[in-house]
Amino acid sequence: MTEDHFDVLIVGAGHGGAQAAIALRQNGFTGRIAMVGDEPELPYERPPLSKDYLAGEKGFERLLIRPAAFWADRGVEMILGRRVVAVDAAAHRIELSNGATLSYGALIWAAGGTPRKLACDGAGLAGVHSVRNREDVDRMRAELADAHRVVVIGGGYIGLEAAAVLTKLGRQVILLEALDRILARVAGPPISDFYEAEHRAHGVDLRTGVQVDSIIGEGGRVSGVRLHDGETIAAEMAIVGIGIIPAVQPLIDAGAEGGNGVHVDAHNRTSLPDVYAIGDCAAHENRFAGGARIRLESVQNANDQATTAALGIAGAPRPYNSIPWFWSNQYDLKLQTVGLSAGHDDLIVRGDPATRSFSVVYLREGRVIALDCVNSVKDYVQGRKLIAEGVEADLTRLGDASIPLIPKAA
Ligand SMILES: Cc1cc2nc3c(=O)[nH]c(=O)nc-3n(C[C@H](O)[C@H](O)[C@H](O)COP(=O)(O)OP(=O)(O)OC[C@H]3O[C@@H](n4cnc5c(N)ncnc54)[C@H](O)[C@@H]3O)c2cc1C
Repeated sequence: MTEDHFDVLIVGAGHGGAQAAIALRQNGFTGRIAMVGDEPELPYERPPLSKDYLAGEKGFERLLIRPAAFWADRGVEMILGRRVVAVDAAAHRIELSNGATLSYGALIWAAGGTPRKLACDGAGLAGVHSVRNREDVDRMRAELADAHRVVVIGGGYIGLEAAAVLTKLGRQVILLEALDRILARVAGPPISDFYEAEHRAHGVDLRTGVQVDSIIGEGGRVSGVRLHDGETIAAEMAIVGIGIIPAVQPLIDAGAEGGNGVHVDAHNRTSLPDVYAIGDCAAHENRFAGGARIRLESVQNANDQATTAALGIAGAPRPYNSIPWFWSNQYDLKLQTVGLSAGHDDLIVRGDPATRSFSVVYLREGRVIALDCVNSVKDYVQGRKLIAEGVEADLTRLGDASIPLIPKAA
């Protein structure tokens, strides 16, 4: 049997994979490209899964990153419903879950991550859900008719967005966060306080500092969640949003450097020859994290790293140097985050959270390193410039929401 050869093989038909193929063609790459994805769908947008798709306000067709004809017109071949199980870096060959092998000139690994599972008893019961792909959300939606009480485990963005949607759909939501505040890993206390109050005002029973002991069930289905203190919360559904594990095992097995993600350089090259990695699974040194090696889980990062890898392959290399940004929609609140707040030594609340339009500005050594902007697009746009410029900040200006973050040009 002859083995198919592709000049570029992209593993993972998600945000990063799609953008890599788009950027290759946009930059004049004419070689043969294929995208291998373990989901049956063409690349689609993941953020709506915990927002308007879960709410039933947006159909799946509207989630597609590009229609089928786009990929066909550009000669991007789709190998869907197939998982890459092994990489032979020396031979430039991958093996698929059905035993087939494909060879490549360059490989772009864009496999994202798999949801972290609870390690406790009952974690595998029916009715315990993650929110990572279309199938997860379709399954959840099908069960919602019989679920009146839903426990959400994890007070990160995905758990909070799901809680907001389910509340809107009339479910009683109990949200459990192990740390002493929600969003603790990504935002400062004023943002946590604000969102905790909002969720409670919308009827969510939000509890912080609580540990899950086990999921309990009846007839193989979840019937409640037991806490460490012995309390049992009755529920017909549990949603677990406690982060992801980067999907990099075949690359690590092939000898790539990494662990929590695969290590990449500023051009998204791994330590394996002609193998790039991008998006959620790529551990890179980020200027906006003070040069620390981090993974970012955002559409911006997946798209921009995809472009970086594509430019390298197309012969026009340009190192990755994008300002991180992210958004989250909960109720009628649009949060836009720019920069990375980890490592801040000061923060300023700009505006009054009671107006539901305000920003938190994070500083390190007198310079703005990040902003969380709630219903405050102007601050987001101007704050981005402040971060890029990296100049000493005017603290009075930052703290006075009645004047713009950046003075009008004279
Ligand atoms: C519910 C939800 C809400 C989100 N909301 C936001 C938001 O509001 N804003 C934001 O910026 N970001 C958001 N994100 C994060 C954003 O979607 C991700 O950062 C982005 O999808 C990462 O792109 P990626 O290409 O790295 O991975 P993905 O888009 O996850 O694509 C990876 C693909 O590879 C497949 N795959 C994995 N292993 C293999 C294998 N061995 N072989 C073949 N295929 C494989 C996966 O199944 C998947 O289809 C959200 C994510 C989720 C899950």
